[in-house]
Amino acid sequence: MKVPDTQENLMKCICGSCPSHNQCMKDKMQGLFCAREKSDCEIEKKGCICGQCPLFSEYGLENLYYCINGAEE
Ligand code: SF4
Ligand code: SF4
Repeated sequence: MKVPDTQENLMKCICGSCPSHNQCMKDKMQGLFCAREKSDCEIEKKGCICGQCPLFSEYGLENLYYCINGAEE
């Protein structure tokens, strides 16, 4: 299910604690990738913690690395 891009959901996003969330993404304050476009930063895969995010179960998400692959369909 597509995740709505809301302030409430942004508050729940835990991308900021993810090992793959690098300085470029922090500088641009990027997150909530499951609802938004993928990041324009260069990202090295160091793990994805989306599975631990409350939105993951709330919206029945199935993928990972939304910052690289883009939003859930
Ligand atoms: S599922 Fe992942 S990208 Fe989506 S809000 Fe949670 S941590 Fe962020
Ligand atoms: S989408 Fe996944 S890999 Fe990308 S920053 Fe968020 S938790 Fe980390």
